[in-house]
This record gives sequence, C-alpha cells and structure tokens, in this order.
Amino acid sequence: MIQIQPQAKRTEELRQLLQQASYAYYVLDAPTMEDAVYDQLYRELQQLETQYPELVTPDSPTQRVGERPTTHFTSVRHNIPLYSLENAFNIDELQAWDQRWRRQLPTTDSVEYVSELKIDGSALALTYQDGVLVRGATRGDGVTGEEITQNVRTIRSIPLRLNFDGIEPIERVEVRGEAFLPLEVFKQINEERQKAGEQLFANPRNAAAGTLRQLDSRIVARRRLDFFAYTLHIPGMDDASIANTQWEALELLQKMGFRVNPNHKLCLSLSEVAEYYQYWDTERLNLPYMTDGVVVKLNSFKLQEQLGFTQKFPRWAVALKYPAEEAPTRVENIAVNVGRTGALTPLAEMRPVQLAGTTVSRATLHNSDRIAQLDIRIGDTVIVRKAGEIIPEVVRVIKELRPADTEPFVMPSHCPVCGQPVVRESGEAVTRCVNASCAAILKGSIEHWVSRDALDIKGVGEKLVHQLVDKGLVHSVADLYDLTEAQLLSLERMGQKSAQKLVEAIAQSKNQPWYRVLYGLGIRHVGSVNAQLITEKYPTVEKLEAAKQSDIEGIYGIGAEIAQSVYQWFHIDANQALIERLKTADLQLVSEETTNVGDSNPKFAGKTFVITGTLPTLKRDEAKTLVQKAGGKITDSVSKKTDYLVVGEDAGSKLEKAQALGISQLTESQLLKLLEYE
Ligand code: NAD
Repeated sequence: MIQIQPQAKRTEELRQLLQQASYAYYVLDAPTMEDAVYDQLYRELQQLETQYPELVTPDSPTQRVGERPTTHFTSVRHNIPLYSLENAFNIDELQAWDQRWRRQLPTTDSVEYVSELKIDGSALALTYQDGVLVRGATRGDGVTGEEITQNVRTIRSIPLRLNFDGIEPIERVEVRGEAFLPLEVFKQINEERQKAGEQLFANPRNAAAGTLRQLDSRIVARRRLDFFAYTLHIPGMDDASIANTQWEALELLQKMGFRVNPNHKLCLSLSEVAEYYQYWDTERLNLPYMTDGVVVKLNSFKLQEQLGFTQKFPRWAVALKYPAEEAPTRVENIAVNVGRTGALTPLAEMRPVQLAGTTVSRATLHNSDRIAQLDIRIGDTVIVRKAGEIIPEVVRVIKELRPADTEPFVMPSHCPVCGQPVVRESGEAVTRCVNASCAAILKGSIEHWVSRDALDIKGVGEKLVHQLVDKGLVHSVADLYDLTEAQLLSLERMGQKSAQKLVEAIAQSKNQPWYRVLYGLGIRHVGSVNAQLITEKYPTVEKLEAAKQSDIEGIYGIGAEIAQSVYQWFHIDANQALIERLKTADLQLVSEETTNVGDSNPKFAGKTFVITGTLPTLKRDEAKTLVQKAGGKITDSVSKKTDYLVVGEDAGSKLEKAQALGISQLTESQLLKLLEYE
C-alpha cells in the first residue's frame, strides 16, 4: 500500500482551504476567513512547499498573485503586472528582506527607503492618454484585470484630466494606487445594508473592492470611494526619465492632481523605518481610513530596476504588517486545572503562536458550557485572539480542518488531582472538586493566603507551596505557623539563610490586620474590599461567627450572595477548627482599633469613597487605610451613593460613570489635603 505522507495531506488540505477562501475574498468580495488566519495558513503552506518542493503544484495559491477576474467586465491585460507585496510581520523579517536584496545586489552606498502607509483598499491601475483618463482597471490576477473605467470616473479624488502645468506633457501615463472607503462611509454602508437585510461587508477593503465592481456606476458614485496614488509608470519609457526616485514620483503625482497620502517618510536607515512603523502602530487608529501595515520601498528607481521582480513580488519592496491579533493554531491538548475553590478549569494547550507581539500557547476554555459551545476537540485548528493586554481566548474552531479521528471533549468525572468524584450543580456552569483535602484546593488556598493583598508573606511562591503540600508538611494554612527551619531545610534547594528568612516572614504575617486574615481565608465572593467592610462591622471573629446572615447582608456594599457565603463558611466545623488554630498561632482576628472615633475626621465620617487608577505615590491599600482610619468608607464601584472618586492615572470606566453621575473627584494630593496630611 502506498503511504500518503502527512505533509502531502496537509499541503492538499491547505491548498483547498486557501483556494476557497481566496475565491470568496477576491471574486465574491465576501471573505469566509479572517485575514490573519489566511496569512498564517498561507505561510504554513509556503513553509511546507519550501521544505518539500515536490509538493508544489502549479495551481497552488502560492503560485498566484490574485484571483481570476469575474466575467461581468471586459478583461484587460496590464502592461506591467500589478504585483502583490512580500509580507514581513516584524522588524527581524524586515531585516531579512533587506539582507536578501543586498545579497543579490551588494552595495556599500547609503540606501534610502520610502515608508508609506499600507492602505487597506483595492489596487487600481489608471491609464491617461494625452492627459485624459481613458481606462481604469482592477488588479485581477495581476496580469489580467477588469475594465471598470465608468466606475473609476465616479471617484472624486481621481483626476479625469492631468495637470501638466510646469511639467513636460507626457503622452501616456499609468498611475497606480489604492481605492478605499473611509471608515465613516464603510460604517454607513453597512448600516444601510443591515436595514435592507443585505449581507454586511466584512471590512472596508472588501467593501471597496465590491463597490468598484458594481455594475451600476450610480451606486459606486453614491458610495464615495477615495483614492491615494502611489506609483507612476510611463509605459515604453524608462521611468527614471521623468523621476529618479519614488520620492520624486510621489511629488510628481501630487503636481499632476492626485491625492498622495501625506504620511510618507524618506528613511535613511532601517532603524528609521522601524521607528516609523512603531509610531504608526498606535497612531493609525486615529486615521479616518484603515491601514494594516507600512509599505517599505527602495527609493532609487535604478536600484528597483536592477532588482526586478520575482514571480509574485517586486524584490525592492516589502509590506511590513502589524501583528495579527487573531491567528490559527492547533490544539495539542486540553488540560484540566483545579483552582483553590475546587473549580475545574479546562485549558487549551496549543502550538505556540505569535499574537499582538507575544507568544501564546495556552488559553482558558472556562467550563464545559464554553467547550460545548465551541465544540473544541484535541487536534482541532482554532482561531485564538489576543488584543493588547487582554488574555488570549479561543474564538472559534475551523471545522474544515478537523482531523477525521477527533472526539468531543468531555469534562472528567473525577478530580484530576485527588481522584475524587466531581460535582456540577444544576444551573451552574462550573464543575467542582468538593474534597476539602484535595491537594489542588489546598495549594490554591495557601497561594491565596500568602498573596500580596492577603497575608503578604514574601518568599513563599507557587513552587514552595507545591513542595510543602507534596511533602506533607502543610495540610492547612495554619500549618504554616508551625513550620520549623529544620523542616524547610529538608526541601530542595533550600539554604539555612532562606529557611530562617521564611520562618521570620511567616511569623511577621501574624501582625497583619484582621481584614487581611478574613480575605486570606478565601471565602467565596469575599474580595479585599468586602473583607474590609465586614471587619468594620464585625471587629472580632467571635462577633462575625455569631452574626446572622441577614445582619451580614445589612452591611452597606454586601449583597445576599456574599452574606450567604460568609455565613455558611463560619458554620462548617472544619473551618471553625481552622479559626481556633489561627487564634492559637496568634493571628489578628480582632481589629486593632475598633472604630476609633478620636481618629475620625468629620469630613470623612459616613462618606463613601471609590479609588480608581494608579495614584502617584500611595499604594491602593495605603489610600484605603487612610480613608478608613479617618472614618470614610471604601467601596468597589461607583454609584449614586458615592461621595468622592479618588482618581489616579489610567482611570477607566469608573471615572466616566462618576462624571455622568456628577460625583466629586479628588486627586491624591487633594485627598491628602482633606486628610490634613499636606
Ligand atoms: P497585500 O494586500 O498584502 O499587499 C499588496 C497590496 O497592498 C497592493 O496590491 C496594494 O493594493 C496595496 N497597497 C496599499 N498601500 C500601498 C502602497 N503605499 N504601496 C504599494 N501597495 C500598497 O497583498 P494582496 O496580494 O493584495 O493580498 C493578500 C492579502 O489578502 C493577504 O495577506 C490576506 O490577508 C488577504 N486575503 C485574505 C483572504 C481571506 O480569505 N480573508 C483571502 C485572500 C487574501
């Protein structure tokens, strides 16, 4: 039997998928796949074909420039093909492009680059005979395009007659550039289409391409396309006879009456190009049109001519694209983590992929509902997204790429850590391990106990916690206080000094205030702010233990869910025993100053404060303590009951809400003045 190589299968799979996508994109102007996904799959195919040249077929998408034109319009053959551009996705790839052309054409002269914004529209080739526009054509497959002169004439920024003032008239001129839809117009068109129940355009580029190929020019005219020119050709003549460089060509185009994108720059080194690219990474978001990268061209026409073209690209230019925020990758495994609350969290482990400047290899799948919704399986190719600071997420599964032998993923019926049966309560999306002595829950709760906002025990990190639990040295947070130096010394890579320091740090944590202890217990729904609100009302643990659920709920800022959770926690025997041990270990289960009226500042008494953003000098906790000491209350969210919003840098939605509600704002220094510290 002939064995089909897995690579051959994959190339065929990729070819088919890319061909379908390409047809939908170029011919139907209705893409079926995200651009970043297309680019990534294309690269995968390219890499496979480079590695196994015998797998290249003449109809491979890597061998074509565009897609064949439709039959609605007359075909025109371009005098000079309209090539695509080679892509680079980061500065390293830009440098690789630079080295490539330099290898072909070694030069020691200083080289100039022109950096232009890559406008996300549709390329047009315009022909002028004796200064008059006679033909407008789409790029098509690069060699043959479609004649759309009637439609092109409706674009206001395309001159119907060239301005030769001060220039020697040229008999035949070909100008190339990008037709695009301003974002505002794009939005408007889609709104209209939605009202009319028509399919929406996926992006401004497809909307522009679709518009250009409308059979009715009146529709084109209404859509207000715009155009930026970027290439000037004089067919039959050496381009250098009219301009020597791209820079001069852009100037000439402007003189002739074209709109040239004003944001282009002459760069004398690659680092200047990199600077330009970085600058526009964020600045482009303020432009009224869409850009997806920077096109870098060698300025000298002489160099351009010497370098020429590959089958698909000019060798003297490269499109330096902005990193994708979405990309496809393959799910290699679905792991299940158990957190401190016992919640089982499925986690997709994926082939590492570059996204928005970082490497992504894991994404949470949240719970079994999300898994069912995505229908994600081990072996699937998925789209992952990561926007800026946002944690990566799996957006969808590319079902077309699903291998034949996959099976739906089922959450385990037993905890992967302790092996005990798990439960999923009706109406809950979360599956939980309910074994209180499960090592995963124990590890999670100790990590929480030592964390910054809780007991803040320096030097006890994840690794150490795992060792302590795995070695059986710690079975509850209270055991931390019985640890001896000798026990710690038995751990891997633990020296005398570190052991001594750890014991000291643990002992130090006994001075942490009651609210931190309460927060550290990790009671569900009790965050740091809630813990402070609760300990204000219940300054001793005994008072809290004796409280009714309705009393706890009566605390301003504490809802029914939190009150129930606290009440239930204190009524579990094992938790009572833990509290007793913490008392014996001398932890603070009493507020130091029980509502010290003497300290309270009349300007703060009974007033509610919310803090947002980063304060210039005070830590969040310090500011909170100061406000509380002066008799003020701190809550987490802004409401009509908020008296003051303390605003730091990078304040977000809380500030907007406070503004909308007309709530007074304070800077840190105003707060300190009010407290009479300044
Ligand atoms: P390209 O868009 O990556 O780059 C070439 C084009 O850039 C030129 O044709 C020109 O129109 C444009 N351009 C904009 N500003 C320019 C400037 N200042 N100077 C020169 N050119 C400028 O390449 P392409 O071949 O048009 O398209 C390939 C891209 O299309 C892929 O990267 C992919 O993202 C997308 N695509 C997507 C799908 C899909 O299914 N989503 C399918 C096929 C292609």
